Amino acid sequence: MQLYNLKHPNQQVSFRQATLQSIGRDSGLFFPSILPRFDDIDSLLSMSFVDRSSAILQHLLGDEFGHDTIDDMVRNAFTFPVPVVPVEDNICTLELFHGPTLAFKDFGARFMAQVMSHLIERGDHNGPLTILSATSGDTGAAVAHAFHNVPNIQVVVLYPKGKISSLQEKLFCTLGGNIHTIAVESDFDTCQDLVKQCFADAELVRRYGLNSANSINISRLIAQTTYYFEATAQLRGKEVVISVPSGNFGNLTAGLIAQSLGAPIKAFIASTNINDTVPRYLATGDWRVNLTQATMSNAMDVSAPNNWPRIEALFARHQKAPNVELRYNAVTEAETTEAMLQLKNAGYISEPHGAVAYASLKKLLLQGEHGVFLGTAHPAKFKDSVEATLQQSIRLPAELEAVANRKVLSSTISANKRELENQLAIYVAD
Ligand SMILES: *Cc1c(COP(=O)(O)O)cnc(C)c1O
Repeated sequence: MQLYNLKHPNQQVSFRQATLQSIGRDSGLFFPSILPRFDDIDSLLSMSFVDRSSAILQHLLGDEFGHDTIDDMVRNAFTFPVPVVPVEDNICTLELFHGPTLAFKDFGARFMAQVMSHLIERGDHNGPLTILSATSGDTGAAVAHAFHNVPNIQVVVLYPKGKISSLQEKLFCTLGGNIHTIAVESDFDTCQDLVKQCFADAELVRRYGLNSANSINISRLIAQTTYYFEATAQLRGKEVVISVPSGNFGNLTAGLIAQSLGAPIKAFIASTNINDTVPRYLATGDWRVNLTQATMSNAMDVSAPNNWPRIEALFARHQKAPNVELRYNAVTEAETTEAMLQLKNAGYISEPHGAVAYASLKKLLLQGEHGVFLGTAHPAKFKDSVEATLQQSIRLPAELEAVANRKVLSSTISANKRELENQLAIYVAD
């Protein structure tokens, strides 16, 4: 797969390079130069999820990896089911939270870990490789689990001390081995800023082989195309409209790539909470970033979505306008609560992110269409808000039960690059 830098189209890289570098010159995002359509969608849709995912990734990456390598990576990464669950006559949900950290980010993070570990094994990367990221919860957990025990890779995850739930902390700060977690005495934005300062320090990047593993990394998005095909496979013959609860817009980018490859999806709904930069932009043509507001769907509390330039580029390539092709909607907190209650009445327990997508679907689904809202996290991951809203208790799934009593292994630092560098020196031998 050949990719180019959206800011400097002359910078062209392979998928291997794009994965190892994460980001191009001047922080430009990498995007595939061509997205070759499948000519036989019918036979593709007849396959099982894992076989089909292997076929899709071979179609895209077969020029860089052998058939068996891709097949192994897919089988190691996608070890959990992807059910479509009916909720109402014409509405269902695609449950993407059956992986080890109970959120859809497991798909991208686990595939990326497979690719990285393969590249190290075959010598495409020399010297240390350190994944450094800041998390407000879900990304850190997915990345930590995906890279746990992968040889020759160290993972360092920063999070704001005391500002993530105790259960979230247990999920990724108890692993040990090559996973190093640091509680920073500050907030999430400061954690992210510390990480940025490290990436801006060329000497530090070189010494530790820093890589970010957030949705800037194209390998995550390419992996996520597979479950969009699964939704259409399970709903064959229907006019499928998919509502995507969006924050950084990586998930929607993956959906649009799947559609370009030939997945029979009639339309997408870009659904946000009140951090609504994209819906406002689509309505007015004016890109204006407001201050981020805290909501129940906190993984979507993003007001400057990283992946939007990729979506613009894709529509431009098809000579289409995003505000014509995309349906869009911003959901208030009251509407989110209302949606969770409606879903409960329909016999389905959802958490705030999925509920945002459902609320938009109820508003924008047309006669004759079949709606799918993406279930991006397990309700137990947002236990407090789900229990408070639905007035019922939620059982912990085995994954969370298992870690609830483990010891948190994090170190604590103040928000200071020097202190972070000292920790890196301890964790990563150069
Ligand atoms: C990350 C996340 C989102 C937002 O996905 P983007 O790809 O950033 O748009 C939605 N729901 C949950 C539960 C998440 O963790």
